[in-house]
Amino acid sequence: MSALELSAVDRTYRQGGNALPILQGANLVVRAGEMVALVAPSGTGKSTLLHCAGLLEKPDGGDVLIGGMPTVRLDDGERTRLRRTEIGFVYQFHHLLPELTAAENVMMPQMIAGLGHEQARARASELLRFIGLGERLDHQPGTLSGGEQQRVAIARAVANAPRLLLADEPTGNLDPHTSDHVFGMLMAIVKQSGLGALVATHNIDLARRMDRRVTIRAGAIEEMA
Ligand code: ADP
Repeated sequence: MSALELSAVDRTYRQGGNALPILQGANLVVRAGEMVALVAPSGTGKSTLLHCAGLLEKPDGGDVLIGGMPTVRLDDGERTRLRRTEIGFVYQFHHLLPELTAAENVMMPQMIAGLGHEQARARASELLRFIGLGERLDHQPGTLSGGEQQRVAIARAVANAPRLLLADEPTGNLDPHTSDHVFGMLMAIVKQSGLGALVATHNIDLARRMDRRVTIRAGAIEEMA
């Protein structure tokens, strides 16, 4: 079963009279339980690819399948619902809500998805314990270290048990030791939950720890050694 499939995805930005083709016939499959590194120089279309995969942008051609479901023909409401329930996002900066506690930040997407307070709290506690933050449930982000904040962001991203996790430099803001630790937690969560992950990174050591590596060349996605 594929978590994500890009099928002949085209994406061209138009500005004035100019067309800037970024993705041209891009194909990619990320299977359930698989962690794929996206390693490409900036400007080649990594963000564009992540936005298309995350249903934040619509491709001009081709299709994006989430858990086998084609999405380009869905309306905006259906795409939003799919994004909320099936896709988790982790960014370089944690974007946690500062006035909420760690547990509340992880509860938030679950309650938006309709879960009750008690269930959301139980799931948040379980996830935060799994990533070693069981003692930090009621701490606000400002009282946590950078690595701890990013671990909360990871827990929040997987709170609704998505099929697909999209990460953009998830440890790019951390020192090498903390980055290593946080990445280990991310990997443990992916492997434990069986979701598929596409992780953009410039960190070649982290890329090597993933199951596969891909890059973008002339708008197409190519496997790397
Ligand atoms: P990366 O994430 O690999 O740095 P992006 O996907 O952000 O690359 O962008 C790829 C190229 O497309 C860049 O040259 C960028 O300037 C251009 N681009 C990105 N978004 C837009 C947009 N909304 N309109 C026009 N050009 C864009």
